[in-house]
Amino acid sequence: FAFDYAPAPESRSVVDIAPSYGLFIDGEFTEAADGKVFKTLSPSTEEVLSEVAQAGAEDVDRAVRAARKAFGKWSALPGTERAKYLFRIARIIQERSRELAVLETLDNGKPIRETRDADLPLVAAHFFYYAGWADKLGHAGYGPDPRPLGVAGQIIPWNFPLLMLAWKIAPALATGNTVVLKPAETTPLSALFFADICRQAGLPKGVVNILTGYGDAGSALVAHPDVNKVAFTGSTAVGKDIARRIAGTDKRATLELGGKGANIVFDDAPVDQAVEGIVTGIFFNQGQVCCAGSRLLVQESVHDEVLDALKRRLTTLRLGDPLDKNTDIGAINSAQQLARITALAETGEAEGAERWTAPCELPSSGYWFAPTLFTGVSQAHTIARDEIFGPVLSVLTFRTPDEAVAKANNSQYGLSAGIWTEKGSRILAVAGKLRAGVVWANTFNKFDPTSPFGGYKESGHGREGGRHGLEAYLDV
Ligand code: NAD
Repeated sequence: FAFDYAPAPESRSVVDIAPSYGLFIDGEFTEAADGKVFKTLSPSTEEVLSEVAQAGAEDVDRAVRAARKAFGKWSALPGTERAKYLFRIARIIQERSRELAVLETLDNGKPIRETRDADLPLVAAHFFYYAGWADKLGHAGYGPDPRPLGVAGQIIPWNFPLLMLAWKIAPALATGNTVVLKPAETTPLSALFFADICRQAGLPKGVVNILTGYGDAGSALVAHPDVNKVAFTGSTAVGKDIARRIAGTDKRATLELGGKGANIVFDDAPVDQAVEGIVTGIFFNQGQVCCAGSRLLVQESVHDEVLDALKRRLTTLRLGDPLDKNTDIGAINSAQQLARITALAETGEAEGAERWTAPCELPSSGYWFAPTLFTGVSQAHTIARDEIFGPVLSVLTFRTPDEAVAKANNSQYGLSAGIWTEKGSRILAVAGKLRAGVVWANTFNKFDPTSPFGGYKESGHGREGGRHGLEAYLDV
């Protein structure tokens, strides 16, 4: 950028990354049955971080058997005892949060400021929150004796590896279920560190099992006859496939899928505040966020003013080394994701939308994409409909609140939305008409373990977080 600044890199040496890791089954790290391994890279440098075991169907079976064996005793423990383990895990996460933040930043590519200030505090908060429920399930409004479902097969994506793990594992354990979790293939390391934390906390063997691997391992987990519940966060395509495959079985499922959130700016919104919200909405975690505000709906009368302020703000964002505490925009998680973002942005241009790119220099190695926005976008454009899952904002306009609502709801997805206005009455009126699982007003991407999160329409079904998140793991 045009101005100088002193880099303030977080020390990479705070975390000890082993050259290789096994699967975590029945309290032990073990090789895959067929000995397969795969490498995990740092997306900001393409350097190999470690080699991890690649689970296959036989390993899935071993892990599910371990979880089944552990289920009897774990589910029979008084809630107060399960709570103690969860509180212990939460505290260890806090104690090791610097290590975990650096590890997550290295494996995922996201800025350390985000892992340190957002991911890790929320991860600990989820364990604390659900630890608090473990001895109160009889008072949650489900009757005196709600029962756990059994073995939960959990599959998570790469955008918030540890946070998605927390969303899945904390409520499952609090309610007395045991777990087999598969992290995404590009971000296996924080889940393996979490396995170590389970050991440190003295969690009984088999209660949590971690299988690193690819989609075939996830698929075998979904198919395993002794899995009672599938909890999936990931793409809508895979989510639909899972829904088809478990139809006709007695398995439960929660599916947290894609999104194309509308961030609606009315003409009375304070422009500077709205601009911050737009930036957070789409450039946090390089836009690789299911609930990203990837469609900006701006009232026609303030379009130019908002766009000018937004572009000015985007020229101040710092893109680069994710371990630098000043970095705003980190690396894209994988070469594959970068190719997908690049292709969709090219489609935007080819279909006639006007492209603007923030002026920043991209590092020569690693996977990078500069903050980008498209103006002159209409509902017919691919970039107004398809989830890009990258730092690309599609800007549309509207004239009246009704038109804003109609455009916001004109999507196959319904995960998130934002409203920016000074009028409280307008917030209530518009929020009530939006078909989205979460609606933020005069803020964006605010998370809290007490609030349920989940989608309408093709963004999935079921809720995670809050009291509602317990229901997904109980027979009530
Ligand atoms: P993905 O669906 O390709 O992968 C997600 C996980 O599923 C990975 O662990 C993967 O190995 C596994 N998987 C792949 N194929 C499978 C199969 N056939 N059976 C079982 N498991 C399989 O998604 P992704 O590219 O890793 O993540 C990006 C997507 O996730 C985006 O669409 C995003 O919106 C969505 N997402 C949603 C939420 C939410 O809460 N709604 C949160 C984060 C990400």
